[in-house]
Amino acid sequence: RQAEYRRLRAKPSVTKDGVEVALQMNAGLLVDLPHLSESGAVGVGLFRTELQFMVASSFPRLSDQQNQYTQVLDAAGGKPVTFRSLDIGGDKVLPYLRAIHEENPAMGWRALRLGLDRPGLLRTQVRALLRAGAGRELKLMFPMVSEVEEFHRAKELVDRELRHSRRHGHGVPDVIRLGAMIEVPSLLFQLEELMQAVDFVSVGSNDLFQFFNAVDRGNTRVADRYDTLGTGFLRALKAITDAAARHHVPVTLCGELAGKPLEAMALVGIGFRSLSMSPAALGPVKAMVRSLDLGRLQARLLPRLEPGHPDKDLRQFLRQFAVEQ
Ligand code: PEP
Ligand code: MG
Repeated sequence: RQAEYRRLRAKPSVTKDGVEVALQMNAGLLVDLPHLSESGAVGVGLFRTELQFMVASSFPRLSDQQNQYTQVLDAAGGKPVTFRSLDIGGDKVLPYLRAIHEENPAMGWRALRLGLDRPGLLRTQVRALLRAGAGRELKLMFPMVSEVEEFHRAKELVDRELRHSRRHGHGVPDVIRLGAMIEVPSLLFQLEELMQAVDFVSVGSNDLFQFFNAVDRGNTRVADRYDTLGTGFLRALKAITDAAARHHVPVTLCGELAGKPLEAMALVGIGFRSLSMSPAALGPVKAMVRSLDLGRLQARLLPRLEPGHPDKDLRQFLRQFAVEQ
């Protein structure tokens, strides 16, 4: 199997009926980057910048952050890297940042909320990213956006930093693309406005599923209680790909779902053409893509998402389809 996946590395990720599905990898530290060529991923779809902060014993300074991002971009060798701004707070505790007690940390003062309330933190990170990205393309997305207005405020902060960098004679990126993670269900009802505001979106299905079903992603008693391939959740995801297509906005999914072949097959079926996953998952998912008759899957899957369809066991249907197709 391993040898088979290795052979697939250089092969295109295209379905039997000729549809390309871009497979990217998730990373969080410089040591992850060698996996980029080993796995055959076309880019880093999610770079979790908080990892550098979590392994440090004090706040990484501007220069430390800039160094790290420069090295990451160098190691990627021209393949695109999508950085995610700090997703700390909640359960991602920094020993040197005074922790506040919260009853529900996952829904607490974390990620972009913290970034907007403590703009010094976010500003330093953005400054480091702009300098590291000088003369190349910089892709940056914000975690835990709940309202489109929060994205606008984050974008404003980036614009201000950009002006500051220019004024002080620092090099800046040739192109900057700013995106929002879709991982809070409220965004599902603001898709039109969101798509008009962003350059791209990325679905954080781990958090989106947790908040969608109100099940703690880390609580084993309830985490598996509802199916990630359930009708409700798949409809929600399809609403995202539909809106993205209407607005010609690139959309990726970077949660754990993307790395499971059956789930990834469903995702491609409802319109995802880009998935980001752990490097080890790339081989199995590419094997799935290359053996998929997408037209046939769509013809059979999409009617099952319509109200009133008698067959509601989508996981069973997809398993059957994967075996028989
Ligand atoms: C997610 O929520 O799906 C995601 C990709 O981010 P994280 O797992 O880091 O919260
Ligand atoms: Mg998340």
